[in-house]
Amino acid sequence: MNPDLERLIELEKVDREALRLTEEVSGLPKRVAAIEEKLAEHKAAVEKAKAEVKSNEAKRRQLEADIKGFQEKIVKYRSQSSSVKTNDEYRALMHEVEFAEKQISGCEDKILELMLSLESEEKAVKAAEAELKTESADVEKEKAEARVRTAEDEKLLAGLKEKRVQLRATVNDSALQHYDRVMRQRKSAIAEARDQKCLACFVMIRPQTWQELRTNEQIVTCSSCGRILYFDPAHEPPPPPPESPKKKAKSRAAAVEPQDEPEIAPEATPTQ
Ligand SMILES: [Zn+2]
Repeated sequence: MNPDLERLIELEKVDREALRLTEEVSGLPKRVAAIEEKLAEHKAAVEKAKAEVKSNEAKRRQLEADIKGFQEKIVKYRSQSSSVKTNDEYRALMHEVEFAEKQISGCEDKILELMLSLESEEKAVKAAEAELKTESADVEKEKAEARVRTAEDEKLLAGLKEKRVQLRATVNDSALQHYDRVMRQRKSAIAEARDQKCLACFVMIRPQTWQELRTNEQIVTCSSCGRILYFDPAHEPPPPPPESPKKKAKSRAAAVEPQDEPEIAPEATPTQ
């Protein structure tokens, strides 16, 4: 195999792995942020449950104060009743006492209801706190994992960077320039050619180019996508049956004339 071709194939593997690792490293902080956001939701749930308990207690204190107020009124009405002059005045005071007693009874009912819901509200606080505790432990674990993964990736990236420099130093300049140009546009610069087609864009290769390509002794580029092509004899298909004249005409029509420096046409969807 042409030594430049061999090194470019190796260089592409290094570049693509480095790209994958770089994307992974940049994605990890986002993942950590997402888990922290989830944790914040659990913290908010605990706060909300605690607030319910607090509001329950406040309502109960208010009702207890109301009861005290009504009781004081009753005492006052009873003491006034001993000094009233008429039956009407007395009845009016007793009516006030009755009203205050009804109010007290209503407050007591409400206190009972609050005490019952307090029980479930306190259970909800405990459940939310337990969930938060579990979630916090998970988050710490995931954050630690993300830190380890980042450190590993960065170490691998440093190794790849070194290998990349070494490989690039040994490749012919014009081949390297072409490689860089395609890599920038396509995110892959090398493609296998199989069955007389570029396996990245599936455009047919001209028969003469195909014959040259099969030796792997030259740098051959795809006339359509610009990728540097190589041939893997292990993927050689079994000899085809004799072609019909109709099919021959079709493959000639599909073949694209390559140029010395092919223009890189935009590609609708990545094929690799
Ligand atoms: Zn192609």
